[in-house]
Amino acid sequence: MSLHTRMLVGFIAGTSLGLAANLFAADAGWLDALVFYVADPVGQLFLRLLFMLVIPLVFSALILGVVEIGDPRSLGRIGGKTLAWILVVTTVAVSIGLVMVNLLEPGRGIPPELGAELMAQTGERASQIAASREGVSGISVLLNIVPRNPVQSAANGDLIAVMFFALMFGIAATVIRSEGTKAFVAAVQGVYDICLKLIDWTIRLAPYAVAALLFSITAKLGFDVLVQLARFVATVLAALAIHFFVVFPILLRVFGGMSPLAFFRGAQPALLTAFSTSSSSATLPTTLAVTEQRLGVPRRVARFVCTLGATANMNGTALFEGVTVLFLAQFFGVELTIFQQVTILLLCILGGIGAAGVPGGSLPVIAMILAMFGIPPEGIGLILGVDRLLDMCRTVVNVGGDMVGSVVIGRSEGEPAEAPSQAGAAG
Ligand code: ASP
Repeated sequence: MSLHTRMLVGFIAGTSLGLAANLFAADAGWLDALVFYVADPVGQLFLRLLFMLVIPLVFSALILGVVEIGDPRSLGRIGGKTLAWILVVTTVAVSIGLVMVNLLEPGRGIPPELGAELMAQTGERASQIAASREGVSGISVLLNIVPRNPVQSAANGDLIAVMFFALMFGIAATVIRSEGTKAFVAAVQGVYDICLKLIDWTIRLAPYAVAALLFSITAKLGFDVLVQLARFVATVLAALAIHFFVVFPILLRVFGGMSPLAFFRGAQPALLTAFSTSSSSATLPTTLAVTEQRLGVPRRVARFVCTLGATANMNGTALFEGVTVLFLAQFFGVELTIFQQVTILLLCILGGIGAAGVPGGSLPVIAMILAMFGIPPEGIGLILGVDRLLDMCRTVVNVGGDMVGSVVIGRSEGEPAEAPSQAGAAG
């Protein structure tokens, strides 16, 4: 059985066993023990192995991407296209979300007692998130793109700063073609190759890890909250589905020259990893392998677009931010004018770029936007109970968007994607 089929089997097995356990043994002690001692550690081990590779991968992939692109003019062109892609496609995503939330109005009609009860359950975490919003506001966000100490940024998992450092390194290595820089680039190529080999090994664990991660989540999923917030959940899922199943296929057909079915088949390992880990960063190793090997995107484009995209291109996250802010505004009875909604749209586009590619990375951004519009940021507690499930889905859209972008930009560079192959690390 091929690896991606085994991942699918793990996915189905983990979800169905988890749901069955939730249904028949939600309060059983053995279930807690099984989740705590088996499922969680297996899932966490996989996540750690993936996260372990993120910094060396981001650093080496970006340097190689820049060096392979070669002259600064082509770099500027591909960089410009990537930026344009992020801005345009994210605007489409947020607009879909805002239209849906205005049409379905999920925040109206929730009994205030229910809201208070939900917020009371998650109060502590909500106040932590509300407090952490300080870190994502103001001019410091822009300044922090440039690291004072790249090693410290790497240690803090501040990927945007690491990317800036790697980009500058790559550009300088392209400009000076000395023996020394050639040797450096060869060594970076070595780091990249080693990372890919390690991913190749790690990803063999994926079927088991995916089963374990999904088992822990579904076994402990609070169905009550899901039902209570059903309209909000449905609004988010419907908007994400439109972006994923309508907008992406159109972009693939019209600009990517690729059949959407072939894309979804090829992209499946990365999409499953995104769904199970809820983290674009943890998925990055798989995204890179899949985009190069199964979607046939030229290496230089895939490395550049996917790596930048893992933190900067988050269609699903930006959409979710928009829907959640408006949902909470509706709940708290804050009327927003069209002008304010357009401001929210712009903030969500920036929020998609600024949010970290980790589980719940968008929550501090949402808290910041809420505070700006006089909506209590602690209100985020209302949706925390359903956030994990929605996080899984929006991360799939985020990672999908990086891969669709690579296909389209690869084609626009005159290098169409080859037919997806079944071979390779992620196959
Ligand atoms: N979990 C998302 C990601 O990594 C970020 C978020 O929306 O919270 O892509």
